[in-house]
Amino acid sequence: MSVHWTVGGFLQPTKILKYRRLFARTQWYSREELAAFQLSRLQAIVDHAYHHVPYYRDLFRSLKLTPADIRQVRDLQKLPPLSKATARRESRRLTADNASRFRPALHRTSGSTGATHEFLLDREANALEFAYYWRYWNWAGYRLGDRFAELSSVFFSREGFQHTPYVAQPITGRLLLNSLSLTRQSAVAYAAAIGRHRARFLKGLPSVVGALARFLRDMGQDGPRLQAVFTTGELLLPSQRVLIEGCFGCPVYDSYGQMERLVAISECPERRMHVHSDYGLLECDDSDGSAPGRTGSPQPTCLGTSLYNHSMPLLRYELGDCIELDEPGLRCACGRGFPVVRAIRGRVGTSLMTPDGRVVPTLFLVLRDVVGIETGQFIHEAADRLSLRVVASEAFTATEQARLLTLVRWHVGPSMSIEVARVRPEDLIVEPSGKLQMIVSRVEAREGV
Ligand SMILES: [Zn+2]
Repeated sequence: MSVHWTVGGFLQPTKILKYRRLFARTQWYSREELAAFQLSRLQAIVDHAYHHVPYYRDLFRSLKLTPADIRQVRDLQKLPPLSKATARRESRRLTADNASRFRPALHRTSGSTGATHEFLLDREANALEFAYYWRYWNWAGYRLGDRFAELSSVFFSREGFQHTPYVAQPITGRLLLNSLSLTRQSAVAYAAAIGRHRARFLKGLPSVVGALARFLRDMGQDGPRLQAVFTTGELLLPSQRVLIEGCFGCPVYDSYGQMERLVAISECPERRMHVHSDYGLLECDDSDGSAPGRTGSPQPTCLGTSLYNHSMPLLRYELGDCIELDEPGLRCACGRGFPVVRAIRGRVGTSLMTPDGRVVPTLFLVLRDVVGIETGQFIHEAADRLSLRVVASEAFTATEQARLLTLVRWHVGPSMSIEVARVRPEDLIVEPSGKLQMIVSRVEAREGV
């Protein structure tokens, strides 16, 4: 998820405060109160979709359903999941006939297969997002106006800013650091800039914040003392967490979301990941023993439903990630009634296909199981050739390397050659957005994988 703290996009103080007050209250709701709140939001959005969104009007009619048939959250399973391909194809019919009332903006996201998805978000979605981030950061002690630093590439990829190392924005208290020019040489200057800015928090992709921490450690330097680091946008590896927390002397508060803003998950002070169930509806395979209605997939993907967006409501949208919820009855010591996440399995779209026809999803998870790997990347060089680039510490011994090879071999089978190379963080391939690509494919079009 990316939230751009541009002043213009968020100049809705009344709306922000409305959501802020709501979210300050709902986080302490009991499980029953949360369920009732979620159901009332869901019924309102389903009613709107039925009356104003051609795709859903036709879908409900073809299934002989009306909004009155959604009497509880699980009744939503009467609708089929919405795949990304269908959402792309049907984007016109998914647009509400009264969308202009909600002053929507067009957003675009591109998946790992390169297909772009365009969707509309209500103007008010920015206020909602702001309030969500405010609460998530507040769990780590952030108060509006506190100074923070953000490692980012989006701001600096604009004309004229590519070589600017950092920019302070006094209104928001933010120091923007150019992740595109983060190198071993610039890391110390970045740390000094964070210190001078008196930032108490740092935000960024795990791979980028991890690279900064590693560079500083290699130079024998501690990072500036912070209150918390916020990571988002990629899978956070345990080794990255250790590295970052050691460098900045503070906890990492990880989070998960998507550009479509359907489901938000973030870490609480008790180090548990919570689904913000007052923000969006998440359906997982194992949430309550019921399947989300999808079969034949090599790996189940979770479904997300927007509870707020009117211009293009997405119901039971396939998130492309696999999220495992903890026991439904588990109550977190922080006192919040939100569901607890056991694990986020990352992008399903980053599967690779072996010559003998296996689809291997989330191969990069093996990196978690090997000691000494800080981050890494799989490059599918040719149909039968896989190379791994790993950034590793001294703890990555020959024994660990052999174990890594065994684990990868177990996943991909005997039909591929596997090479492992130790590299520097700057040798990893990143997307234009600065996000680390866990799996890079150099194989001809692999449509459908
Ligand atoms: Zn908690």
